[in-house]
Amino acid sequence: MKERRSPSAAAQADPDPVALGQQKPEMKGSSQHETIYRAISDAVIEHRLKPGARLREDALAEVFGISRTGIRKVLQRLALEQLITLTPGKGATVARPSAEEAREIFDARRMIECALMARLATRISAVEVKQLRAVAQHEQQALRGHEQSAAIKASAAFHARLAELAGNQTLAPFVAQLCSRSSLILAVYGHSGDLGCDCNDHNFLVDLLEAGDSDGAAEFMHKHLHAIESSLSIDEVVDETPDLRDVFAVYRDAGAR
Ligand SMILES: [Zn+2]
Repeated sequence: MKERRSPSAAAQADPDPVALGQQKPEMKGSSQHETIYRAISDAVIEHRLKPGARLREDALAEVFGISRTGIRKVLQRLALEQLITLTPGKGATVARPSAEEAREIFDARRMIECALMARLATRISAVEVKQLRAVAQHEQQALRGHEQSAAIKASAAFHARLAELAGNQTLAPFVAQLCSRSSLILAVYGHSGDLGCDCNDHNFLVDLLEAGDSDGAAEFMHKHLHAIESSLSIDEVVDETPDLRDVFAVYRDAGAR
């Protein structure tokens, strides 16, 4: 089955955004909901589904070959994670974070991630340093190849991995969720061509962690997150009605029922 990508997998030369989000699905048994959940959240994070885009239950049920009840369960999970919004009578749409939410999310990230960096600097291993460099390199390759969605995903993966390595299993999934929501914020308030993190920042951060510089790593993370937030601007975004059959074509074509 399709699992969350490990750092080593993320480091492989596979910057194709379509391949990243649309690996050949395996749609059997209890993994089916997980596969669909992952497919939709990837499409949101990679901006193949834009903020405000409507997600029709019947179209998704058809694309993924499951019941509307099954789709509804997946949508409820995505709504809990605030990647989508469920509105009675209107259905599901990709969430569009408000300016205030955007500020709050970056504020929360600064509070948590800076503290985690201070701790991580005291415990990171050589192997983990190598893994982080591989994720940063993957991100850099994606950016060089103008694979924007792959770069955004790699950026989020880098931050989520940092939180995991810091060793607090309660905070790590929360940071991962904040990173997913940040990707959405970048889609709403970022400028195309300037979406995501500065890779040089990521490399420099790993240098600080490797050197065991707790204060330096925490301080640099603060600057890094502040720089991303500062690069955003608030603009109106027009509603879109994506063709869900196109976005998830690989699932439809797989004919999985
Ligand atoms: Zn970053």
